[in-house]
Amino acid sequence: MREMFDKKSELCLCGSGKKYSECCAIKISICGNSNSFRGFMQEFDKLHNTYKKICLHPNKSECSRVKTHAHTISQKAVLELIAENGIVLMPIVFGIRNEFRMEPRGIEAKATKFYCFCSNHDKMFAPIDYTNICLNENKFFLYAYRIFAATYYKVRRELDCFYKLREKYDLTSNPWALLMYHNMEINMVFLDEYKKIFDEAIMKETYSCLESMMISLEYKVYFAAATCFCPMIDLFGNSLSSSELGLPMIYISIIPNENYTNIIFSWLKRDYDQYTFFKEQVKIAPRRLLLKYLNNLIPMNCENMTVGPKLWEAWGEEGQKDFIKIAYDEKRKDNFKFTSKEYFRERLYNLFLKIS
Ligand SMILES: [Zn+2]
Ligand SMILES: [Zn+2]
Repeated sequence: MREMFDKKSELCLCGSGKKYSECCAIKISICGNSNSFRGFMQEFDKLHNTYKKICLHPNKSECSRVKTHAHTISQKAVLELIAENGIVLMPIVFGIRNEFRMEPRGIEAKATKFYCFCSNHDKMFAPIDYTNICLNENKFFLYAYRIFAATYYKVRRELDCFYKLREKYDLTSNPWALLMYHNMEINMVFLDEYKKIFDEAIMKETYSCLESMMISLEYKVYFAAATCFCPMIDLFGNSLSSSELGLPMIYISIIPNENYTNIIFSWLKRDYDQYTFFKEQVKIAPRRLLLKYLNNLIPMNCENMTVGPKLWEAWGEEGQKDFIKIAYDEKRKDNFKFTSKEYFRERLYNLFLKIS
């Protein structure tokens, strides 16, 4: 790999804008030396764990000094419904370390930690932190905004940690990671743009910038998800050419209740052109097709999901393996490029399984 760009005149692959000979060539290599790799990993973890706590709320003058963790999934409202003895399962991904596990977590623990609001502004999510919510425009906005905020914070944190590590380590031996960071940089530009729209809505308290639609299932599912994605394949298997990197996003919340489940889709009205078809498709598609699509899509974007132990056990070992395969292995292998086949595959797990 190195021979390909190890020429004095060539720009370094790390993206610093400097020549390789003056950049990563003189940094610590993490390739082939287990000591330096271990050192790198320790710093990687430390940077992530000590990353600054911020508040993304636009009204900074009202910020409390206490920064808190926003749960991307409403803790009280949802987790208690799917937990067994206070425990739920969460996918845990260790960035560069190549590990993925479904980990049991206590619902009282700080399960999905994103320190992106101060304690004062985290209260804005109170209207969606209970069960049987009567939904309206404002609440749809809160669901989508909470997903947005966590995504924004995560990408910002990833990039800041990367910039810090790149000063010291030669990361050019890991082109996959470099590509991932490069894509994140592009996404960040779009995320900053979306942030302005969300900020304005919050300041003006007008939430009509989003278009939302909801469908309900007449039973409780045993998982919850809050995620956003750029669809690459539509509900009928057509590939969406406009869905390259950084393009508009659909926010999805799947919220179980005592004996029904709400599935909320939202997107910025600004992107209406891209998503009119999606709305129509959701309306006319057979429910089974929609659930099959979501059954494949949600694990591909699974960072903010929680699975109830009952569901996990009901899948059996084969189903669990299949879930992990799509949630992790295949995503890496194909570099996030899925074909329509992947969206409509029969799986050995079923997120929407009815459990009595
Ligand atoms: Zn470099
Ligand atoms: Zn604040």
